[in-house]
Amino acid sequence: MGAEDFSHLACPNADCPDYGRRGAANLRPHGWSTKDKSVRCLRCTTCGQHFSERANTPLFGLRTSEQTLIAIARHLAEGVGCRATARLTGVTLNTVLRFTARFGKHAELFHDEMVRHVQPQQIQADEAWAFVGKKGQAL
Ligand SMILES: [Zn+2]
Repeated sequence: MGAEDFSHLACPNADCPDYGRRGAANLRPHGWSTKDKSVRCLRCTTCGQHFSERANTPLFGLRTSEQTLIAIARHLAEGVGCRATARLTGVTLNTVLRFTARFGKHAELFHDEMVRHVQPQQIQADEAWAFVGKKGQAL
């Protein structure tokens, strides 16, 4: 395994017992998902599913820019309603609702401990989603 560390990743298969568990040591490198070997293919030893290491990020498959997504997450974390968030970040209400559903699910991956020490200016995408998840339950 060498220096490769997959502890920041978790199995993206929602039916897997280790779904969303980071650092569970259930992931093994399984070749590459791109020809230039820039993106790892991983295999979950728990459920046997293969996936690209990119498949596990909240941003996977979304076309809205990361900056906009973070802005959405921040507004929601501040208690701004979905409608106002959409207006303030320049996206449609549908977009906000879609993201709250999606990131609320992703936010289950995070423990309170991880977000408690985060300063607003340090919010990275992942932490921002965690905030969304907390508020998301009330939406
Ligand atoms: Zn799995």
